[in-house]
Amino acid sequence: MRIGPVSIMSFRITFLGTGGGRHTTMYQVRSTGGMLIEHDGKMLNVDPGPGALVQMHRIHYDVGETKSVIISHCHPDHYSDAASVAEGMSRGGWKKGGHIYGSPTVIEGQDGLGPCMSKYHLGIVEGYSVFRPGDTLDVDGMRVDIKMAKHSDPTNVGFVFHTDNGLVSYVSDTEFTEEIAQQYIGTRVLILPVTTPMGNRIKYHLCTDDAIKFIDIVRPELAIFIHLGVVIIRRGPDKEAALAQEATGIRTIAGHDLMVLDVGEELELSDAETYDDEWIPPSSV
Ligand SMILES: [Zn+2]
Ligand SMILES: [Zn+2]
Repeated sequence: MRIGPVSIMSFRITFLGTGGGRHTTMYQVRSTGGMLIEHDGKMLNVDPGPGALVQMHRIHYDVGETKSVIISHCHPDHYSDAASVAEGMSRGGWKKGGHIYGSPTVIEGQDGLGPCMSKYHLGIVEGYSVFRPGDTLDVDGMRVDIKMAKHSDPTNVGFVFHTDNGLVSYVSDTEFTEEIAQQYIGTRVLILPVTTPMGNRIKYHLCTDDAIKFIDIVRPELAIFIHLGVVIIRRGPDKEAALAQEATGIRTIAGHDLMVLDVGEELELSDAETYDDEWIPPSSV
């Protein structure tokens, strides 16, 4: 029995980037900045690849507000802005603060991959943790389950965020297997990295055909395509998402940069407000 007021935890995702893969990243066809999550007033960066800092500036978000950063694996489209996020969390390295969560390649390095975070940057934050499939994290009061993936960085994982209004899953880079998809059954919002379009499968990633199978197993309320490679961008991500919606009967959209999703009783989509001025956060001076 619950006594007293029932707390409703807010949960908002700002998609700092919806691009992924080498070409989208190196040409910044779309930003590859990952996600900024606000949960109950606390801020979390997830996979801050190239563009994260630029996008946070554009929406006047002070990276000093970030309490934790999650880095799924050691590919630049997921980590390259993370060192600066660590400097934000620690007020430029002056005051220990924040927590870094990463897979083994991110924190320790393994088989020639990584580490992505230098000893220096691990030293300026309050703490850091290595996660593996099966782990459950407490990220500033929010439960996050770690799921297995199958990717060219073998330590990569996916994430299930527990909100008061259901489960939100971010499936980081993986190829399709039934077993991987089944881990996300029960999720309300399924955020899928769909790197390539229909009929264009590449190893260790999802194409639209795979996304259809994935969505059909999970049956969420909403599926969102992100991590868009150049070929699917050229083909038209909205069209590819529509194919998945048609095939599964599940509402499916393609994400776009700075799209905002509020997960309350309803799922609300909007766009972040942007500014073009030369902005210096007040807390930095
Ligand atoms: Zn990637
Ligand atoms: Zn990757």
